[in-house]
Amino acid sequence: MHRISFFLGLVALLFTQSALGQSRHVDSHEHGKGTLNIAIEGKLILMELEAPGADIVGFEHPAKSVTDRNAIKNAKAVLSKADQIFTLPKSAGCDLERAEVDLLREELSGDDAANHTEFFAMYQFGCADPDKFSEFGLPYFRVFPNAQELSIQLITRQGSARYDVGRNSATVKIGVGG
Ligand SMILES: [Zn+2]
Repeated sequence: MHRISFFLGLVALLFTQSALGQSRHVDSHEHGKGTLNIAIEGKLILMELEAPGADIVGFEHPAKSVTDRNAIKNAKAVLSKADQIFTLPKSAGCDLERAEVDLLREELSGDDAANHTEFFAMYQFGCADPDKFSEFGLPYFRVFPNAQELSIQLITRQGSARYDVGRNSATVKIGVGG
């Protein structure tokens, strides 16, 4: 029961936080390292990616120049195209139903202000055969050369699992208890 309520809590978190866009904030992060949370519930797969601005656009200072602003705009456009970030097995029959991308800025006052930014992206897939979602590719690393690692957490009703993958991992095999 504990696992299930944890899972439902995560799903609620993914939905409400992205829907409201308010309660998210920049966690302390290490440049090069992002996190990816994956939740599977029935035919629904939710993926939530958080990555330092440094990994995605190569900088975290406020975008003042046209070049910086364009870099952010382009990054958001790329991140919103799930198939440029992940490749899911065709046999799982997944369609992207929803994607949201935000750039979050660290909220500090004084000299420390705006030291760090994070890109946050949420993807909702509807999958005909989610059991076939046993592995996936990460073109993410090819698209964003500054990204070095992803810490992946998978949550299903059967439990949870963690994977730390580096930029040379072509394919991530996933599964809980298998
Ligand atoms: Zn940073």
